[in-house]
Amino acid sequence: MHSAARLDVLGSEQAYLVLAAARRLEAAGHKVVHLEIGEPDMPTPPHVVEAGIRALRDGLTRYALAAGVPELRDAIAHSLAARGVRAAAENVIVAPGAKPMLFAAALALVQPGDDVLTPDPGFPIYESVVRFAGGRPVYYPLDESRAFAPDVVAIAERVTPRTRVIILNLPHNPTGGVATPDDLARLAALAQRHDLWVISDEVYGPIRYDGQYDSIAALPGMAERTFLVDGFSKTYSMTGWRLGYGVMPQWLAEPVTTLMINNVSCTATFVQYAGLAALTGPQDAVRRMVSGLRGKRDRLVRGLEAIEGVTCATPAGAFYCFPDISGILERTGMTCEAFAERLLEDAHVAALAGTAFGPAGRGHLRLCYATDPGQIDLALQRSRSWVGSLTTVAAR
Ligand code: PLP
Repeated sequence: MHSAARLDVLGSEQAYLVLAAARRLEAAGHKVVHLEIGEPDMPTPPHVVEAGIRALRDGLTRYALAAGVPELRDAIAHSLAARGVRAAAENVIVAPGAKPMLFAAALALVQPGDDVLTPDPGFPIYESVVRFAGGRPVYYPLDESRAFAPDVVAIAERVTPRTRVIILNLPHNPTGGVATPDDLARLAALAQRHDLWVISDEVYGPIRYDGQYDSIAALPGMAERTFLVDGFSKTYSMTGWRLGYGVMPQWLAEPVTTLMINNVSCTATFVQYAGLAALTGPQDAVRRMVSGLRGKRDRLVRGLEAIEGVTCATPAGAFYCFPDISGILERTGMTCEAFAERLLEDAHVAALAGTAFGPAGRGHLRLCYATDPGQIDLALQRSRSWVGSLTTVAAR
């Protein structure tokens, strides 16, 4: 017996494999520092939890409309004004997470044989869903010397008559990179010149330390060619609730709703009311989280820079560091995959190899710093002493 061949092209996320390996170590009695999974360690704000419970108590336990609860679609549309995007409820489709919306965007926009410009390094699901839809991911580089901002010239060089979509993710997983307003304006001009779609993954949108917002859909002429994807997981610490959305031209919202009907029917009704409370209630928990994350970022970057053979750019957004460890790899002859594996096995620090995000991640690690500062210090201390114990290639 075998599964249909179309499943063979699906990729996965290393974070879940590393988490499983870390859990095995924990089951054997070891204390692991978790810097692998990308989720805030803060609890969901209490008023959001209360709204979810209230919705359950009020009997909101039946199917909702496939496109989402009207009040939530409306609140999402209003919330987009903060990033300069004008949208109505009819442009918004709710889904159980941003991830299913990325899948929907690929299925809705990518034709077999289309090229899709995809960041390298980048969230591995982009490549996976593009392939599943029959498209071909074409990597564009994100250069450390430009603080991992998308390089419009490098992107333009990769556009061909087969190119149909550019995927943007700002702030960016795994590097924390963002774009300048000029980069965004030039990307918008490029998309319009070549009649391209943009899938703009903005799940880390508010987690940016200079308070700016990178939404290409806000630029003139872009709303009609942008499929914006966002969700509640990161901003509101709601990873396990599963709530996200897409914002798209109204004509596209109808077939995407049909896709939802075929796939999930609807998003859990009470979860949507919790999301409504998150968007319309006080935002101080988000502000507190972002200011706390800034301190954790600085702590981790400082500590990493103090390790010989490591350099680390200070990320402008999201909650990841992407240190360059090639100095250690050259000295020890290890690959970054072997380094991450042994860091877990020997030092009990769980991190992801940069190559989990594409070939350009070579020589890097991805570390999530949305955790307790004590855990960051412990990870640094363990890593420093473990790295110090590694023998050099010549000495072996
Ligand atoms: N997009 C990016 C760049 C992510 O890093 C993640 C989660 O790690 C997602 C989308 C998926 O988010 P959600 O939990 O809303 O499905």
